[in-house]
Amino acid sequence: MSRCSLTPWFFTWLMLLCLSGCYFLDSLIVASSFRHVHHYVNKSNLDQDYCERKRKLSNFGGWRLSTEKLTAALPIDPIEENYVREVQDSVFSVVHPTPFKSRVLLVAVSKEVLEDILDLDVSVSDTEDFLQLVSGGKIVLGSLAHRYGGHQFGSWAGQLGDGRAHLIGVYTNRFGDNWELQLKGSGRTPYSRNGDGRAVLRSSVREFLGSEAMHYLGIPTSRAASLVVSDDVVWRDPFYNGDVKKERGAIVLRVAKSWFRIGSLEILTYSGELRLLRILLDLVIDEHFPSISVNDSNKYLAFFSRIVSETADLIVLWMSVGFAHGVYNTDNFSLLSVTIDYGPFGFMDSYDPDFVPNVSDDERRYKIGNQANVGMYNLNKLLQALNPLLDPRQKQLASQILEGYPDQYYKRFTELFRAKLGLLGSSDDDGYMIAFLLKLMEDARADFTMTFRQLGEISLDCLKDFSLSQEFWALQDIAKHKLFPSWVAMYLLRLQRNAGDSESDRKRRMASVNPRYVLRNWMAESAIRKAERNDFSEVRLLQQVLQHPFQRQTMAERAGYAQRPPAWAKEIKVSCSS
Ligand code: AMP
Ligand code: MG
Repeated sequence: MSRCSLTPWFFTWLMLLCLSGCYFLDSLIVASSFRHVHHYVNKSNLDQDYCERKRKLSNFGGWRLSTEKLTAALPIDPIEENYVREVQDSVFSVVHPTPFKSRVLLVAVSKEVLEDILDLDVSVSDTEDFLQLVSGGKIVLGSLAHRYGGHQFGSWAGQLGDGRAHLIGVYTNRFGDNWELQLKGSGRTPYSRNGDGRAVLRSSVREFLGSEAMHYLGIPTSRAASLVVSDDVVWRDPFYNGDVKKERGAIVLRVAKSWFRIGSLEILTYSGELRLLRILLDLVIDEHFPSISVNDSNKYLAFFSRIVSETADLIVLWMSVGFAHGVYNTDNFSLLSVTIDYGPFGFMDSYDPDFVPNVSDDERRYKIGNQANVGMYNLNKLLQALNPLLDPRQKQLASQILEGYPDQYYKRFTELFRAKLGLLGSSDDDGYMIAFLLKLMEDARADFTMTFRQLGEISLDCLKDFSLSQEFWALQDIAKHKLFPSWVAMYLLRLQRNAGDSESDRKRRMASVNPRYVLRNWMAESAIRKAERNDFSEVRLLQQVLQHPFQRQTMAERAGYAQRPPAWAKEIKVSCSS
């Protein structure tokens, strides 16, 4: 089913919206082949280890990484040399990170990722071992680069793969959860194509802060454990206009339950590796979809159905905080429906359905108002990848499931935006009221984040009288629209139907879903400019503030993070160059 076959009412609605092995770090081994050793954390050891490991580790003594599960189940590229090539019949290639040649500085760490996910006391981040691990400085036995493909900007791009990322191992934490640790910016791999395998500081700061911010906004995402910068020179042409700049190489240690993408499956289907496609899918289902039985003859259908609804949920969550991913290609679309691969993303300031965060996106394909549609396109590509494994009846059912996506999206969207407006229960006019508000915001270029936030901070008496002090700057903007009084009248009437509600309850509910702080481009840019001079204070301040996006914070207010964005914010350009 093509993107064009979305049901007409979905378009109507969109129009409305538009209108409106295991490694001991203390004994890291330099090895030419990872196959020699597979220490393995098994589940029974886990129980025994539990008490011991309940406390966070303050060194790497008993801390283990393993890729055993992945490498035992999936074929590995037999070629071990690191040169760019088309890889066949494999899911991973073994390749080591390339250490930086110059000094490495720790820009930031996430205490929560270290302590709650990786069982490490944050003090570990002061050690040389930590710096070595997170900068790819010691070759970790058996690092892997993943082979995947993808549809980019609407066309099949062939083999892509981890061109600058290394899976350094899987960590099984004290809860028995497996987390895959990946370095990004850690050097060339067989999938680097013409790239240098590096990532620069500016894009790494954005990925570190952006992914952590999304987590605290309650949006499924990869996490970032650490960010380091080196003095190694990396050349980039940030706006693809021939103006090449000298930048510095950086590495983010990012973690996710899995880094498999739609493109991980697509490449196997496109190259006719159907046996491998089945193996990989069974592994993903077995590991990450416990409610689906691997013995169920409809398991691939059930898997597809889950991803369809989780995609709808994820994109609605993005929309609810004004987040545009920027390059939502199938290679950047996680099979676990978590936000991954933060590149030219953006949180929009003024509400604009045509907001495109990526200046290289000439077609405006990934504008914020098109994300639901792109989700549909990507799901369609996922279905094409699964098709060879489905019988005719299952194919028909899968198409029906996909046709249900617009409904799921719309239902979820209405639920979330209802909550953003503090509405209880439901009314037939809610969808209209939400779209009406968005249309006013668009016309008035009202700030997306703060309009909702301030609607939840203002008393209804003040709203009724349009008595808007400077504190309500976003509402002052939208109040200039001649139809705003009509919307307010409708809203106040609807709020009266909130049975048993009080003003303080409404304010509390709205404050818990409408963030006061998001990572606006100007905030990231300001932190990046300082970080480029080795002043990491603003990266750390933002990290701290964005851990509590729903709570008013003195430091954040002082920094102007809830104020009208400065004039220079409009000049900031973000591109795919990273
Ligand atoms: P991205 O736009 O970051 O999602 O990357 C798309 C593809 O390009 C992936 O296969 C990346 O691994 C690869 N890539 C991006 N930048 C580089 C680079 N500097 N060196 C090697 N590969 C890269
Ligand atoms: Mg990517």
